Amino acid sequence: MSEKPFRCGFVAVVGRPNVGKSTLINTILGRKISIVTPKPQTTRHRILAVDSRQDCQIIFVDTPGLHRKAGKAMNRIMNRTAANALIDADVVLFMTEATRWTVEDQDVLQRLQSVTAPVIALLNKTDKIHPKEMLLQALAEMSARYEFAEMLPISAKREDNLDKLMQILPGLLPESEALFPQDMFTDRSKSFRAAEIIREKLTLSLQQEVPYGLTVQIERYVEDAAGIEMHAIIWVERNSQKGIVVGKGGNVLKKIGRSARLELKAEAGVPVHLELWVKVKDNWADSEKDLLRLGYDSP
Ligand code: GDP
Ligand code: MG
Repeated sequence: MSEKPFRCGFVAVVGRPNVGKSTLINTILGRKISIVTPKPQTTRHRILAVDSRQDCQIIFVDTPGLHRKAGKAMNRIMNRTAANALIDADVVLFMTEATRWTVEDQDVLQRLQSVTAPVIALLNKTDKIHPKEMLLQALAEMSARYEFAEMLPISAKREDNLDKLMQILPGLLPESEALFPQDMFTDRSKSFRAAEIIREKLTLSLQQEVPYGLTVQIERYVEDAAGIEMHAIIWVERNSQKGIVVGKGGNVLKKIGRSARLELKAEAGVPVHLELWVKVKDNWADSEKDLLRLGYDSP
């Protein structure tokens, strides 16, 4: 009897903002690889999540949501990053909300026309569908839109039907050795993760447009036997935003620093000393040069 060949490949997760791409990846990996918030455009980078199994290694590619209103340079980079993930993918997961189809979903579908890899449609958030018969209609409409290799209703949050997805995926990957070490879960560094966790807390705490106008840069990251010391700069686009992020008597910044520090400490298992500064860089999100300096580029 011949042994099953080892398989390894890239599974790009694409869709408009907020459909649950990062949630899906975190649920499958069983750990927080990507930050998640109720606000759209939370994911700004391509982030790899490596799922090493007995007979396969599935490399999930989390992407920023493809969106319209791509006014600023950062939005263009985000869209380009997501579009580029389609090029290298061995499998594409096209994620939508089962309850909603929008013009932005239509835009993503348009981009799939040039994809040669198999595309699986994931109709997410089925836990929100009432009555359940509506799902049949959503599936029928979806099947008419594209020649999908498979269509699966899922709930990334409740882990519904993900076992079905994980049964299908390995067989669609090429025969290949593992591309990453077994114990590597992501391609991103510890300081990138720290910046993301701080940005998650900022996004959860701040209202309206403020989260979209800020970014976090780790200026110092030192780890030794005593713990981790981190200095982070929160860049905002305008002076008025600085006041909002700092808050009255520094209360907003204090709260954000505390919750970020607690999460980082829990994850690292060592004490974390975190210092935060808020600085203004006029319109950084619309400057290609600033964006590059702050770690934004499309791979
Ligand atoms: P992304 O922008 O596509 O990466 O979406 P996120 O993973 O950041 O999720 C956006 C929001 O949708 C968050 O508030 C998630 O908690 C929520 N969400 C994701 N999956 C599900 C799901 O299966 N059911 C419900 N009800 N909410 C979900
Ligand atoms: Mg995301």
